[in-house]
Amino acid sequence: MMTLASGRSHIAIPGPSVIPDAVLQAMHRPAPDIYDAELLAMVQGIVPDLKYVAQTDQDVAIYISNGHGAWEASLANTVAPGETVLVPACGRFGHGWAEVARGLGINVELLEHGRQTPIDAERVRAALLADKGQKIKAILAVHVDTSSSVRSDIMAVRTVLEETGHPALLMADCVASLGCDVYRMDAWGADVTVSACQKGLMTPPGLGLVFFNERAAEVQRAMPAVSNYWNWQPRANPEMFYQYFGGTAPTHHIYGLRAALDMIRAEGLDAIWARHATLAGAIWTAVEHWGQDGPMRLNIADPELRSHAVTALSLGKGQGDRLRAWCRDVAGVTLGIGLGVEDPDDPTASGYFRIGHMGHVNAHMILGLLGVIEAGLTALDIPHKAGGATAAAQALARR
Ligand SMILES: *Cc1c(COP(=O)(O)O)cnc(C)c1O
Repeated sequence: MMTLASGRSHIAIPGPSVIPDAVLQAMHRPAPDIYDAELLAMVQGIVPDLKYVAQTDQDVAIYISNGHGAWEASLANTVAPGETVLVPACGRFGHGWAEVARGLGINVELLEHGRQTPIDAERVRAALLADKGQKIKAILAVHVDTSSSVRSDIMAVRTVLEETGHPALLMADCVASLGCDVYRMDAWGADVTVSACQKGLMTPPGLGLVFFNERAAEVQRAMPAVSNYWNWQPRANPEMFYQYFGGTAPTHHIYGLRAALDMIRAEGLDAIWARHATLAGAIWTAVEHWGQDGPMRLNIADPELRSHAVTALSLGKGQGDRLRAWCRDVAGVTLGIGLGVEDPDDPTASGYFRIGHMGHVNAHMILGLLGVIEAGLTALDIPHKAGGATAAAQALARR
């Protein structure tokens, strides 16, 4: 049977993202000696480059983990069982971080924001003002919630903390946004930034990152106890190589991440942010065009509030899954499933799916992806206004 899916496939899910050949090739090597001087030098060079990507001069601890591990690490260092965190949740990942906190015996004060709005700084202000005893130890704020693709204003949360004089730490989850959407840890006043390597950092899943400033370090030192494994202090300020990773180093990931950071350094963060913004804009142009004559809708109406790394969209009952299957099986493009935006009683009702456009993506990948989606809409007789892919091409031509 003829297939059009042979050839290089494309993974357009919101993590793990496309792995550059340079990263794959850097990882393809025999096991090195973990006391090798080259490996040590490489880690010492990776640290400042990670800080560059997070726009911070503060410390970073690296864990052999995914983003969930980094979530746990951030809490294990700063919030003791029985203490309280405030979680303004704007999608599945805000709830996910809250669940990790509950698992550690931490009380969660949840501010439910639904799935289509960013963090409302005024609701955070009201919660802080109501907290007369200043029991809230930290605010867990997700920068880009990958399920809803909404982007929140982290600096606005810092401003509210300043204005209310509340001492809570500001912790930001930048797993989806780091290296994609503009983020400036120090300038925006985040005390802790949580991330992982498999999205904007273009490396296979396996490294969790926790950046922390001196305020957070002070809070950590006052903790009654910190788990030896999650303790960020020896990882950030190791006396010997072994302490960087609390045990055996993730040898191949170090080579892969080094190659990815070389690419990031060569392109420059400003250019990377601009590329993501422009390519995201092309996707929105196509979706809005198709939606003029059919059911396709972006989850976030206001472009200013949309992530540049991932786009959540709906297509009506059952149609998201049909389209995803067509794109994958017929054309070799894998789109992301809808996550946490469905009606729990009828998961296919909204037809939600997501397009990942984080990290190693360029114009030809995005235009190819949009052309495939348009072919799929046509093949499946899903109503749409024809020409969305052309509209995106025109948008990129005019950029
Ligand atoms: C992907 C993601 C996570 C979880 O990362 P895992 O590596 O899957 O554990 C957490 N937060 C956000 C915003 C994410 O996009």
